[in-house]
Order: sequence, then C-alpha cells, then structure tokens
Amino acid sequence: MAAGTGRLVGRLALVTGGGSGIGRAVCQALAAQGSKVAVVDINEAPANETLQSLSCDQGLQHHSFGCDVSSTQSVSRLLTDVTQKFSCAPCITVNCAGITKDEFLLKMDNRMFDQVIKVNLKGTFLITQAVGRAMVEGKIQNGSIINMASIVGKVGNLGQCNYAASKAGVEGLTRTSAKELAKFGIRCNAVLPGFIETPMTDAVPQKVLDKFRDVIPMGRLGKPSDIADVCVFLASEESSYITGASIEVTGGLNI
Ligand code: NAD
Repeated sequence: MAAGTGRLVGRLALVTGGGSGIGRAVCQALAAQGSKVAVVDINEAPANETLQSLSCDQGLQHHSFGCDVSSTQSVSRLLTDVTQKFSCAPCITVNCAGITKDEFLLKMDNRMFDQVIKVNLKGTFLITQAVGRAMVEGKIQNGSIINMASIVGKVGNLGQCNYAASKAGVEGLTRTSAKELAKFGIRCNAVLPGFIETPMTDAVPQKVLDKFRDVIPMGRLGKPSDIADVCVFLASEESSYITGASIEVTGGLNI
C-alpha cells in the first residue's frame, strides 16, 4: 500500500488478545490500513512477536503492552501507559482476549465457570469502560469499540455453558455500551465468529471440528483474516451508521 493511504491512517487502535489467533490477525489488518496499534496481551512474548510482524510502511510506530484484562489495576495501568506512549487515547479498540474452560454442565465446577466469565465478560467490560472514559476525555471523534463475542453465545454449544454465557453477556454489554456512548460519537459492535482456525480451536478434538465443517454451508472453518477484515470495516468510516450490531462471521453455520 502506498504511503499515506489506507482506510485507517492517523488512527490509534488498541487490540487485546493481540498475541495470538484472531487478535494477531486484527493487529496486522489494522496496521496494514495505516492505523498505529497497541498490541495487548497477558503474555508479553507473543504480543512482541505480533509487534514484529506489523507493517511499518508509513513510518508507523506500534507498541506492545502486557495486561491482564480481568484485573482492574492492570487495565487502569494499561490505559495510562498507552495514552502516554502514543500521546493520545485510542480511537479504535478490539476486545479479542478470551479463554475457554470446557466441561459439561453437570460436571462443571464453579472455578471454571468464574474464570471464563472473569476474562471474557468482565475483561471486556473493564477495557470498554476504561477506553470509553479515555475516548470521552480525549474528545475522540468517530470512536469504534469492537467486541469478540461468538455464535456459541447465541445458539449454545455442548460443554461450553460458561463460554456461551460469557459471550451472550458480551453482546448485551455491547448493545448497552452502544446506547450510552452514541452521544459521544463512539460506536460499539460485536462480531460473532463461528469456528475459526486458531490455537483456541486447536484444543477441540479433530472429529468435533470435522462434524462442524460438515454443517457449515461454505464447507470450511474460518481463517483469522476473515474476522480481521470485518473488524477493519467496523473500525472504518464505511460503517459510520452501524452501532449496537452483532455481525455473524460463520460461513453460514446455524442459518
Ligand atoms: P487464542 O487463544 O488464539 O487467543 C486469545 C488470546 O487472548 C491469547 O493471546 C491469550 O494470551 C489472550 N488472553 C487470554 N487471557 C487474557 C487476559 N486475561 N488478559 C489479556 N489477554 C488474555 O484465541 P482466538 O481463537 O484468537 O480467540 C480470540 C477471541 O475470539 C476470543 O475472545 C474468543 O473467545 C473469540 N472467538 C474465537 C473463535 C474461534 O473459533 N477461534 C470463535 C468465536 C469467538
């Protein structure tokens, strides 16, 4: 891409879960469109690997940050560090940090349930609140917050009552944030991926993945870039009248 072009030139994006899978692809896609990127992950080494992979074509400066999104203190420190490092608040945020702890409902212990809610739902709340405050204080124009939910939050999935509940919660959080933040020029949307080939789905047994592939009308699992492309659209001016939406990116699963 030629210098100074791209749909996101001059913008700063904060991406959680940026060290792996979908988050890494999102960082790369946003940087390729001219955005500066704050790569955030609980694991700093993979966040750094993502950082090294980012396009710096237009003299872009990116940085990586360690943060546990489920910790109020860690999130508060992150926003201070990011705004200091870039001398502005992020105008794009993509919440990709997430975990699974699968077990059937009748066998699930409370800790597994709580851990998933704490990272996937509370973590998304903490980042959305902290970024929302920074965007309002920084008088950011055209803010865009994008939350990774899941098709599983809508239709359920065997062995994932904790994960499905957390992702349904993320959709409710997104719609409420959209209503409250619209007057500040901030849009909030959720992306609902189907089954995407990442380290998260590497943990799913092959025969289960094969079963899902058989019922996906498009006949394949998704790639992280399939999700990243939708995030670029939601971050850009091309989606300027879309807020509170849940966009399914599933290859047609469950239609
Ligand atoms: P992944 O496991 O490849 O990446 C998740 C990243 O989040 C990792 O780098 C991990 O270190 C980071 N992370 C975990 N806990 C964190 C914490 N407390 N603080 C900060 N970072 C933390 O997973 P993925 O497949 O890329 O998933 C990304 C998002 O997309 C998740 O929210 C996931 O639930 C969602 N999603 C994935 C799929 C899929 O099929 N892969 C489907 C639907 C939704």
